[in-house]
Amino acid sequence: MEKSLVLIKPDAVERNIIGNIINFYEENSLKVTDMKMISASREVAEKHYSNIADKPFFGEVLDYITRSPIVALIVEGENAISKVRYINGPTNPEQAPKNTIRGIYGKDVQENSVHASDSMENANREIIIWFGK
Ligand code: ADP
Repeated sequence: MEKSLVLIKPDAVERNIIGNIINFYEENSLKVTDMKMISASREVAEKHYSNIADKPFFGEVLDYITRSPIVALIVEGENAISKVRYINGPTNPEQAPKNTIRGIYGKDVQENSVHASDSMENANREIIIWFGK
């Protein structure tokens, strides 16, 4: 079954909405098959976001993702990668439909509550980073 790596980001963990977010995936027939809370180190955060290392906001994203604990999940199901990204909504919460996680909970383009893998290759890469498997 296809797997996606999801992060519930600091802004969401800080506001006690971990459960609300997990609910979205479970209600859409996706299965949480692994999960842990982590205080991400700068080194791991840099690895995870290596694909945006050339962006001007890279440093800010690293500050944000390491500022307080996050929850990492493996979410499985048919077409899990595209399904999770649809449920999350677009990067910018202002452009996110009101039935998506980012549309409901996202604060701004950086503090957008969730991360999800955008390809099978990145899902495999990110699962190794966060779960070592
Ligand atoms: P996504 O998380 O939707 O796949 P990207 O890979 O483009 O989006 O960006 C990774 C993360 O970097 C975003 O989720 C967000 O937290 C942050 N980010 C994206 N664009 C900006 C921006 N213009 N300013 C600040 N942070 C940003």
